[in-house]
Order: sequence, then structure tokens, then C-alpha cells
Amino acid sequence: MFCYQCEQTAGGTGCTKIGICGKNEDIQSLQDILIFGLKGIAAYAYHARELGEGDEQIDAFMEEAMFATLTNVDFDLDRYLALVLKAGEMNLRAMEMLDKAHTSRFGIPTPATVQRGTKAGPGILVTGHDLLDLYELLKQTEGKGINVYTHGEMLPAHGYPELRKFEHLAGNYGTAWQNQRKEFDEFSGPILVTTNCVMNPKDSYKDRMFTRGVAGVAGVKHITDRDFSAVIEKALSLPPLADNPQGTLSTGFHYSAVLGLADKVIEAVKAGKIRHFFFIGGCDGAKPGRNYYTELAEKVPDDCVILTAACGKYRINANDYGDIEGIPRLIDTGQCNDCYSAIKIAAALAEAFDCTVNDLPLSLVVSWYEQKAVAILLTLLHLGIKNIKLGPSLPAFVSPNVLNVLVEKFNISPIGNVDEDLAEMLK
Ligand code: SF4
Repeated sequence: MFCYQCEQTAGGTGCTKIGICGKNEDIQSLQDILIFGLKGIAAYAYHARELGEGDEQIDAFMEEAMFATLTNVDFDLDRYLALVLKAGEMNLRAMEMLDKAHTSRFGIPTPATVQRGTKAGPGILVTGHDLLDLYELLKQTEGKGINVYTHGEMLPAHGYPELRKFEHLAGNYGTAWQNQRKEFDEFSGPILVTTNCVMNPKDSYKDRMFTRGVAGVAGVKHITDRDFSAVIEKALSLPPLADNPQGTLSTGFHYSAVLGLADKVIEAVKAGKIRHFFFIGGCDGAKPGRNYYTELAEKVPDDCVILTAACGKYRINANDYGDIEGIPRLIDTGQCNDCYSAIKIAAALAEAFDCTVNDLPLSLVVSWYEQKAVAILLTLLHLGIKNIKLGPSLPAFVSPNVLNVLVEKFNISPIGNVDEDLAEMLK
């Protein structure tokens, strides 16, 4: 670690202030966690603001927390830990605010079966999380004979009434962000990237790619004002897409839809028909080891229900898991921007069974990659949720001492062997 005070490697020759001048690796670790969490909160708050929602408490916390990461401002580990957990609390507010912004603008999502693949005719692929971009594009393409497809993070759009009312919102093409370079190459129409996670494009499709909002790539046309005429022109100038249906996916299980099934779920648990709930989801990525989640979902016994969210769902959602007494065995609550629903469902189950979330027959197996995942993890810790399994590896920015605290307080553990983990969770 480089020390900005001594301007040398921390702990090296001449370093006289270990633990005082910011070289303390635990302070550094908590600062890193805090900064990653703040980035995640900023993403949620940005989307909410685009839809007209803001929160003074979140804004004030962002300032305080950023200030607290300055060099030599605070060396108290306990105070830092409290700040990190407060970031989890603020992230919960931000997620709630975004949920409100989405549902008040686009309606409350309901479960939807989504066609995968493409239909014959011109088409535009939209990825990222900005539902307002998608809405404007759908309005501007209406009646033009262009189909609009969601990719990756945009899949939950199909659950929102004000988005799915557009008949030319034709389906979902492709999977999670790390497959963009292959999937965008194979999609012959224009591609609109509204937010993260965006990968550097191949030259083969760079000239039909467009970015919007915070997303940007050098050499790719950036749209600043939600006027999508350049994307539409491109779609009409390119050869039409082929008819290539590839089955279906389900999405749109907003917490209000799942709570509508609450009586059925409670009855099924009491009758022993549902033994256990698993949350299997989070970010996805190319790193080896993420097949763990696919294998785990495949091995989850038939009398268990799987909740999922975010890009990690593409590791598990191509299978048909069937249902238990009409309750789907795979419940996709949405994207990383919709994790509020998964939290609300867990809280509602705990209330129904008059216990805490930690006492429920529920195991959380989370995959992390970027900053929103860190923010969500902090929210779970703020809520006192224990026994989370995290993978594909533990974050390198967590120091051994900070990890010890997380293990002692929250019993966080890394994912391991699928069969052993499954047996342990089902105990
Ligand atoms: S789930 Fe994670 S990897 Fe996927 S878009 Fe959201 S932040 Fe990025």
C-alpha cells in the first residue's frame, strides 16, 4: 500500500507511524468498503433523481462519508465501522426511493413471461438500468415497425405496465454484461447502452453502438438528451433481424406481487411443502468459479424455492424449475436496482412467521462484482442479516481484521463446495 503521508510503501524503511498516518490497513479497508458502498448508493440515487426523487438525508450522508475518507481525518475503527453500516442504512433508503420512483412512473411490476431471441424485422437492443431511456425510446419508435429488445440489466422492464404496454417491446436478447462482446457482435441492429456495466466494444459493432447518461465509450456516439433519432435511423438503415425465437424467461416478481402470494406461501411452509428458501443472485462476471451458482440452483431440492435478482440470475434462469402448489420455484425479483423487493419479501416472511429474518428457513448466497453489490451487502449487514455466503471470492479490499469482525458479528463465509454448502444450509 502506498502511503501518501510518507510518500513511500507503507511499513517500509523510514516508516515510523504505522497505525497513525493512514497506513493502518484496517482503516484503509473500511475506507475502501465505504467508498465502494457510496458509489453503489450514488447509482441508485442518480436513477431516482432522473425520475424526480431526491432525499436530503442521503445527500448529507454522502458528503459526511466522503469527507471521512480524507487522509488523517479519523483513526477510530469503531467509528468507521459504524459509518460503513450507516452506508447500508442509507442504501436501503436509496433503494426504497428508487423503487418508489420506478413504480410511480411505470406502475407496479407484475410477473411476465418474456420471449427470448429476435423477431423478423428491424430491431434495437437496450442494455443498462435506465428505464426512462427505454420508455422514451419506446415512445419514439412507436409505429415505425422497429422491435425493441432488452439485454442483461434491462430484463425487469417487461414487468412494468407502462413499459410493457408497448407491443414493440418484443423480448429479451442475450444474457449478462460479461457476454456483451459476443452477443452484441451477433445482434445485427443498433445497441443502446444506458448505464453500467458496459464493456469496451469490438470494432465489429462500434459503429452501431450508442451510449447515454453516465455510460460512455471513446469513439461511440453519445446521446445527451434522450432524442433517439440517430438510433432509430440506424435501425432502419441496417438489414432486418432474423426470426430467431429462443424460448422464454420469467421476471417481474416485485415484492407486491410476491406478497400477493403470501397466504399460499405460508400455508405451503406450514404444510411442509416448502422446506427452505434460497436467495441465489447478485452480480455476474467472467471470473471462473461462478458456475457454483448454476450448480447450486440445479441441486436445490424440489421442495425449496429460489429467489433471485441482478445479473447473477442469468446463471440460473434458463432452467424450468416448475412450481410448488402454484408458487413458482424460481422467483426473479429484478435487477440490482430492484433488490429492495428481495429485502421486502424476506422482511414480510419474517413478520408472517413472527420471527427475525435470521430465524427463517432462508439462505442467502450472494455473488458480488461491483459497487452496487457492496452497497447491498452493507444494507444486509445494517439489517443484522447473518450467515450470508459470499463469492466467487471474498473482496480483496477486506483486511483480515475487518473480515474477522464480519465473521464474528455476521457469520459471513465464502462459498465453498456446492454439496457441502447445500447440506449445511438445509440443516
Ligand atoms: S448486477 Fe452487478 S454486474 Fe450486473 S449490472 Fe448490476 S451492478 Fe453490474
